[in-house]
Amino acid sequence: GGRFAGKRVTVAGLGVSGIPAARVLRELGAEVTVVNDGDDERARRQAAELEESGATVRLGDGATLPKGTELVVTTPGWQPDKPLFAAAAEAGVPVWGDVELAWRLRGPGAAPWLAVTGTNGKTTTVRMLASILTAAGLRTAAVGNIGVSLLDAVLGTEPYDVLAVELSSYQLHWSASVRPHSAAVLNLAPDHLDWHGSMEAYAADKGRIYEGNEAACVYNAADPATEELVRRADVVEGCRAIGFTLGTPAPSQLGVVEGVLVDRAFVADRHRQAQELAEVADVNPPAPHNIANALAAAALARAFGVEPRAVRDGLRAFRPDPHRIEHVAEVAGVAYVDDSKATNTHAAEASLNAYDPVVWIAGGLAKGATFDELVAGAAKRLRGAVLIGADRALVRAALARHAPDVPVVDLDRTDTGAMAAAVREAAGLARPGDTVLMAPACASMDMFTNYHARGEAFATAVRELAAGRSAER
Ligand code: ADP
Repeated sequence: GGRFAGKRVTVAGLGVSGIPAARVLRELGAEVTVVNDGDDERARRQAAELEESGATVRLGDGATLPKGTELVVTTPGWQPDKPLFAAAAEAGVPVWGDVELAWRLRGPGAAPWLAVTGTNGKTTTVRMLASILTAAGLRTAAVGNIGVSLLDAVLGTEPYDVLAVELSSYQLHWSASVRPHSAAVLNLAPDHLDWHGSMEAYAADKGRIYEGNEAACVYNAADPATEELVRRADVVEGCRAIGFTLGTPAPSQLGVVEGVLVDRAFVADRHRQAQELAEVADVNPPAPHNIANALAAAALARAFGVEPRAVRDGLRAFRPDPHRIEHVAEVAGVAYVDDSKATNTHAAEASLNAYDPVVWIAGGLAKGATFDELVAGAAKRLRGAVLIGADRALVRAALARHAPDVPVVDLDRTDTGAMAAAVREAAGLARPGDTVLMAPACASMDMFTNYHARGEAFATAVRELAAGRSAER
């Protein structure tokens, strides 16, 4: 705390992580200047509020480093190629992300971190992990994107034994001294490449999560890129590499593995007796990608010394968050599933692989993605597809190339009512025993405020369908 008194700190960006960081730094006695590119109504309101805490806010100029800055604390919205960072590097001023700040503010004897990153599955895995740790009688919280913020968890009065921490690639980019007890990279697929500059840079940032791990680096044995990151990491001596797999581990695989999730998924042990941890039916929902998430959570918990029984109990107690492969209703023998959180092709692939036959509702903002691989992989299981949203032509073209016999309804709509129409069209294509899956593989902002609103629109439409009230317009 004392080391921040009088220190001149520049916070890059207002917003959900900039404002709390600025407040905390003010409370610690730092001289805080917040710089922000935007100068709109909202920014002015936030600035006025922050200035009451004694911070200085500079709106409309995020490029110049304020004179005398001794430390920059940055936020995820700020790309590393911004001129402010070049100026900081030139002046020899360190740059910390919000996670680095939280790490540095931990007191003596603070709760260790079990950290999770990956392109998809982070939130789910961290919440499964917290559920397991809770079942083991440990005081814990799932920290990150949802629920408790990292700064609150570190500085609050709530005592924790251990934290289950979700870390994004943005945060890892600026977190040089963070040393988790153990960490997992769930998977690596192209995402956010505009921010990181390249796939290599994105992977390298994810890989930072393993730096300094004490007990275990958990990786995905089916994703060699994650194994490679473990190889490159500088860890504490004695730290183990633990790979999780839904299949049989190959002899060449780094290390690992402990425990068995019986049935489809298991992890074998090179050094110890394989041990049964849970059954696939204990995982909710028991889709392959979600079993992978459960294995990663189990491996981290085991690395922390949690007993196998708590792994099982914790997984059984876990309830998934809304809009992540959420079963909405069954209507006329057809299951309706909301995976609105599938905002990229990698995520949609996971849920599309879990259903057969499936009527797929897709489309939205593609963010530069291509759909060939996704569609080719799912073609055999597709009963039909219904397309909505701005970039639906890209999905339609991929369907024409790889699934020419699959009936496609192109709604040619981007209004919010399009979702209800899509559900009706999908109901027309589906037969009893099928699943209608809304996993758009695209962002939602062309039609909705966010993925949550998109999921709600879907659920409402399904309920209307069930009630037989869905009026044709
Ligand atoms: P994140 O926090 O990384 O965005 P979530 O747990 O919120 O991840 O899940 C986001 C979406 O990603 C889910 O809706 C699901 O479709 C998909 N998903 C979840 N876990 C995995 C995984 N292990 N591999 C691939 N896709 C996944």
